[in-house]
Amino acid sequence: MSVQVVTAKMAEVEVKDEPNKELPAGSPVTPSSDDKTLAKNVPHDVGSSATTPTIEPSVKADPSPGLLTPNPVKMPQSSAMKRPEPQQNGGDAFVNRDGTVAEAPRMKKIQFADQKQEFNKRPTKIGRRSLSRSISQSSTDSYSSAASYTDSSDDETSPRDKQQKNTKGNGDFCIKNIKQADFGRREIEIAEQEMPALMALRKRAQGEKPLAGAKVVGCTHITAQTAVLMETLAALGAQCRWAACNIYSTQNEVAAALAEGGFSVFAWKGESEDDFWWCIDRCVNLEGWQPNMILDDGGDLTHWIYKKYPNMFKKIKGIVEESVTGVHRLYQLSKAGKLCVPAMNVNDSVTKQKFDNLYCCRESILDGLKRTTDVMFGGKQVIVCGYGEVGKGCCAALKAMGSIVYVTEIDPICALQACMDGFRLVKLNEVIRQVDIVITCTGNKNVVVREYLDRMKNGCIVCNMGHSNTEIDVASLRTPELTWERVRSQVDHVIWPDGKRIVLLAEGRLLNLSCSTVPTFVLSITATTQALALIELYNAPEGRYKQDVYLLPKKMDEYVASLHLPTFDAHLTELSDEQAKYLGLNKNGPFKPNYYRY
Ligand code: NAD
Repeated sequence: MSVQVVTAKMAEVEVKDEPNKELPAGSPVTPSSDDKTLAKNVPHDVGSSATTPTIEPSVKADPSPGLLTPNPVKMPQSSAMKRPEPQQNGGDAFVNRDGTVAEAPRMKKIQFADQKQEFNKRPTKIGRRSLSRSISQSSTDSYSSAASYTDSSDDETSPRDKQQKNTKGNGDFCIKNIKQADFGRREIEIAEQEMPALMALRKRAQGEKPLAGAKVVGCTHITAQTAVLMETLAALGAQCRWAACNIYSTQNEVAAALAEGGFSVFAWKGESEDDFWWCIDRCVNLEGWQPNMILDDGGDLTHWIYKKYPNMFKKIKGIVEESVTGVHRLYQLSKAGKLCVPAMNVNDSVTKQKFDNLYCCRESILDGLKRTTDVMFGGKQVIVCGYGEVGKGCCAALKAMGSIVYVTEIDPICALQACMDGFRLVKLNEVIRQVDIVITCTGNKNVVVREYLDRMKNGCIVCNMGHSNTEIDVASLRTPELTWERVRSQVDHVIWPDGKRIVLLAEGRLLNLSCSTVPTFVLSITATTQALALIELYNAPEGRYKQDVYLLPKKMDEYVASLHLPTFDAHLTELSDEQAKYLGLNKNGPFKPNYYRY
């Protein structure tokens, strides 16, 4: 089946002229009939018209049943939404919800060390192991379920110094140890169990190849979950070359299984900065290889190509980006008029946001605390700062375990939600002396400052689930009168002169990222969205997407969700014709306006 036919089939559901629900009178968000806004992303004027959201005119679609079309939920039509920029602007500041501009959380810009491009000037072994600060934040700080069960310290030889081949004699990869492939394969099989939508996509394709001819260069966490995605892309026809977006998160055995399966993977756990860029370069820079799609997580790969091989963009059809940081960079490029291909922002898909922030944190907060401290939750007094998606997830989990949960909030709406959900809303200083655990989830900075740390009781556990590094003022604890004692990996006792100690987890970085794993099912949702975004961008006819950043349409979000429902033997109710007419909806969706809050 040709790509065009596949595209047409996938684009079967017409979006044009679909009725939208009206916003209630007085709403600050005024959607046009195009329904431009997303509830969580009300545009903030950051001084550029580029922030004004628009929607692309929809494209008439072939009404034939789609290749990957589930029943009853149909594959969405391809026209995607543009969305307002994320709240950050320029990197040094971000726009608050009230429109004021504040200092940005520490989001390091990528630092291309042109200087580092002399890969022949190989660093010493020690040099390779020391992790330079100039590496981009995304390479050290983003989500993965980064549990590598093989010890990478058992072999001191750098993968770059090894000549390895898989059993078919192919050596176009650079990983820790190809002999771990069997073990990695078992990891991938476990992940497949929890990634039903990708497995469904493979089945639905049934020999049809919507990604035939696609040459995807990827830079994501190299984990079992990514392997399931890569093998799905391959099953759909794509060729893949892959590097890690994070120097710590590669599961070596999974990389080995991928290499054994014929994938060109360049990644291992514990890369140096030099290794990191070298691996990315090896993915991109190969005689006779010209990628035509980018799948990025953090923007490092995209920026590498911009910086080093800008001509490649002539043949690249699109970028799919997962992370907040990467999306932010794309918007910056777009604003500067430098984005030369269409890009899909996966990060802001409703399903990703909801699952990552709420459900993922609901599961991983307990995991992170338990693994690091073996704490019992029943009866413990816990304060959760911030009652947004992440805070709600943390509170729900702790409440279910029998903890006594207090909440702090600055926003009366979220505060009222906390009250209605049965939590005591307090100010931090009211309970700081009595609580056993302090968790920050605000996305803000300096929420827990030295004054509060001084007043905590002996043994209080302090951790962060919100914005990396900024929420707890850890720097204020690095003073001569306080003693730091590393008691476990990611666990420090900070000891006051009188002997009082607090238990600081992951030095204030994200607890679940640093100390636990992320549920595979959550990653499945993101990976499915990535796969669909690649298919869409790759097959889109010339002109459907411009050189801008797009959100996948809500129908595609709904489709991603629908692909996950069979796991639960969930039976979706279908609208009758009469009901659809009454609600003013298309029976196949979208079922909610874009500003719907879920
Ligand atoms: P959100 O905006 O829904 O919630 C944050 C809440 O914190 C808001 O209700 C806000 O009013 C409140 N807040 C801000 N400053 C405060 C303060 N000083 N005191 C008390 N409350 C305050 O955001 P979210 O989706 O919950 O995400 C929160 C942070 O978590 C973000 O930085 C996000 O990037 C991060 N995040 C972490 C994970 C994870 O796995 N750990 C997953 C997703 C998002």
